[in-house]
Amino acid sequence: MHSPIKPSLLVLFLLLLGISSVTLSGTEVWSTVSRSVTGAGAALTDAFGGTPVTLSKIWHDYIPLPTEPQKKMRVLVVPGHEPADGGTSFKGVYERDLVAEIGLDLQAYLQQDQQLETLSTRTPDAWTPVFAQYFNEHWQDIVTWRDQAKTIAEALTAVEGTRAPKIYHASADPEVATRLYGITKWANENNIDLMLHLHLNDYPRRKSSAGIYSGFVLYIPSEEYANNPTTKALANSLFARLAQYNPITDHEDESLGIIDDSELIATGAHNTADAASILIEYGYIYEPQFQDPTLRSLVLRDLAYQTHVGLQDFFSQNTDVTPAHGYNPSEVYRWDTPVTDATSDSKDIYAMQTALIMAGVYPPQGKNFNDCPHTGIFGPCTKTALRALQQQHSIVGEGPSGGQTFALLQKIYYKLGYSLSTL
Ligand SMILES: [Zn+2]
Repeated sequence: MHSPIKPSLLVLFLLLLGISSVTLSGTEVWSTVSRSVTGAGAALTDAFGGTPVTLSKIWHDYIPLPTEPQKKMRVLVVPGHEPADGGTSFKGVYERDLVAEIGLDLQAYLQQDQQLETLSTRTPDAWTPVFAQYFNEHWQDIVTWRDQAKTIAEALTAVEGTRAPKIYHASADPEVATRLYGITKWANENNIDLMLHLHLNDYPRRKSSAGIYSGFVLYIPSEEYANNPTTKALANSLFARLAQYNPITDHEDESLGIIDDSELIATGAHNTADAASILIEYGYIYEPQFQDPTLRSLVLRDLAYQTHVGLQDFFSQNTDVTPAHGYNPSEVYRWDTPVTDATSDSKDIYAMQTALIMAGVYPPQGKNFNDCPHTGIFGPCTKTALRALQQQHSIVGEGPSGGQTFALLQKIYYKLGYSLSTL
C-alpha cells in the first residue's frame, strides 16, 4: 500500500495545479483527478496531457443515449507476451499459448454483449494486422512518446522515491517493452476504454517441479496515475466474480488479491494509459487444471466466461455476487454424464465441482480454494463436499453417480428452479 503523498511532491503538485487550474477546472480530466486519492495524478495528467477514461464515460458509452446508438464501450483484449516469444512455461505448456486461447474465448463472450466493442492484439500465432502494421510504421513515434512520458513521470515522482517492481513478469527485453508501450499508445489513439491483459503467473522456482503457490491476482495502476480510479472500480467487480470459483493467490507478496503497481507497462507505467487497464494473472502455470490436456480448454473458457460475467456484474451494479447468481456454467460446457469415481472424464469432474461450488458446499467447510482447488481432480475435497450436499438433501446410500445425487447436481448446474434457500 502507498504511503501518503510526501510534502515535497505536494508542493510540486500545488505549483502545477496553480498554473493549470484554469484550463483544467470543469473538464472531464479534472473530475477524474478529483476522485483520485492522492491527487498526484493531477500533476502527472496535466504534465503529460492525456485524457483518462472516466467512469462516467464508460457508463455513457456502455449504455448509450437513444441519440447515440453507435456508442459502445471499447475493450482491448491483450493476451500476455508475444505470439512466439516470452512468458513462463511448465512441462511443455506455454503461458503465451494458454492466454491467447483465453483471449479468443473472452472475445467470443464479449462479442455477445451488444454494448461492447471488442478488439484483440493477437491470436496464438500472430499479431493482428492492425498491431503488426502499427509496430512497423510507428516504432520511432512509440519510442519518442515513451521517453517523453518517462522523463515527465520521473521528474514528478523522483521526490517520492522509487518502489521496486513487484511482479515476476517485469523483466521484458527492450523490444518487447516497446511493443507493450505501443499497445498503450494505440489504445490512447483509438478510444479504448478498457484494456484486459491476460497472464498466467509464476515465480522463481526449480524448473522441473511445480511451485507451491496457487490462485489468481489482479494488478491495477497505482494511485498516482490518472487511470487508477476507473481501473479500480472495474477490477473490484472482476475480483469479486473470480473469487467465487478460484483461489486468491497465496503468494505472500500478492495476497491482497488486487495489487497496485506503478512499474507495470501494461497498466500504464509513467501514467501513459488513458484507458482503464487490468492485468489478470489467472493462476500459476503449473496448476493441474492448466496441465491436464483433456481439461485445459474447458478451464480456459470458464475463466474467460467468469471475466465476462465480472464485467456484467459491474454494469448491472450487481450486489449479489454469489457463485450461482449471474453465472451459468452450461454456457461453457454441457455436463450430461454422471461422475462415477476418480477415473471419470476430468471435464465431468470439473463440472461436478462447479455444481458443488454453486451449491455452496465446495470448498468444504473450513477449507479454501487453495486447499481445495477447482481442478477436475476427484479427491478428498470433492468427496467431502458431495457428502455434505447429500446430507443436506437427506440422500443416503449413494455414491457420486447415484440417481438422486446426479439429478440434484444437474438441477443446480442447469439452474432448473434451484435456489440456495431450498437447502
Ligand atoms: Zn505473463
